[in-house]
Amino acid sequence: MVALVFCIFSAGLIAWAWHGRAKKRLQHEEIGPPMQGVFCQQYRRCIPTMLSVLFVAILFGGRLLASDSQLQLKNIPFNGTRAYGYLKQLCDLGPRRSGSEGMAAQQKFLAEHFEKLGAKVEFQRFTAPYPLNGPEEQRIGRDVPMANMIVRFNPENRERIMFCSHYDTLPFPLRDPTNRRGRFVGANDSGSGVVILMELGNELARHPPKVGVDFVFFDSEEFIFAEDGKYFLGSEHFASEYVKHPPAFRYRYAVLLDMVGGIELHLPQELNSATWVDSRPLVNEIWATAARLGVHEFVARPRLDAIRDDHLALHDVAKIPACDLIDFDYKYWHTQGDTPEHCSALSLAKVGWVLQEWLRGQ
Ligand SMILES: [Zn+2]
Repeated sequence: MVALVFCIFSAGLIAWAWHGRAKKRLQHEEIGPPMQGVFCQQYRRCIPTMLSVLFVAILFGGRLLASDSQLQLKNIPFNGTRAYGYLKQLCDLGPRRSGSEGMAAQQKFLAEHFEKLGAKVEFQRFTAPYPLNGPEEQRIGRDVPMANMIVRFNPENRERIMFCSHYDTLPFPLRDPTNRRGRFVGANDSGSGVVILMELGNELARHPPKVGVDFVFFDSEEFIFAEDGKYFLGSEHFASEYVKHPPAFRYRYAVLLDMVGGIELHLPQELNSATWVDSRPLVNEIWATAARLGVHEFVARPRLDAIRDDHLALHDVAKIPACDLIDFDYKYWHTQGDTPEHCSALSLAKVGWVLQEWLRGQ
């Protein structure tokens, strides 16, 4: 709505500017006609310009308004309500930073869920030094146990699609307006991506896909205690292992989910993904699927800023065409407010549905 008002306001400004230009031209061209006549002519000349600007404003404003799709949970064949239930369970485990008890509880919770569905669960374990900027001085230099979790459906299939998300949570809410050492449970960042994959797993167990599908949960995307810390340890480890020990299969595509469950969901294309030549078709396919389904929260144009995320290692090191679905306008990013109340079953359902439909075409 704000965008629409902005649009009409800008249209008004442009019309006013054109009016000014027309006035100047008139003053220059027309010498000595009666005052009233000049004004009539000025307005008459401006009318087509103003009408066309108004038309563009209405058209453009309509497009922006259409970005709030009118879909309801009952019209979406992806169980957002159950995914939201998983989100609450996940956040009830508490903070899930790398190497913590919360992370161990989450790994157990996810392994049980996916094994029950008949998927193959593996942990890719590694260690990383405790960050030098961490608050627990006595732990400096000590290695922290890390693990990427890999869940395979159709493990024998050599043509595979990867869906991934990080599953560690930021140790502290580094952007919180009141307490930057408060409690952070990461509902949207990272819970939303995890629970969409939990629910997508239910779907895959019921309707096995034609291709092989791996869910990869990256550890230590943000095991950092200040914003200049070292991000993406899990995805970098995964990508370098993939290069060192090439598997017998290949990944056709990797789709990364990060902050995809906020109530006010807004998913423009991520600029890196949209401009990499090998990844551009993937981006086009996903956003075209969303358009076909009427999920207008997927906005088919890139954000102006490129986002660094786990997809960089997948693309640049492992050479997998990759795309990042990320809502970087989420208001509660890295604050104590990143809780299930600021996420919604409907947003989870919309994203899950688009991915489920896109996968059917693979
Ligand atoms: Zn984050």
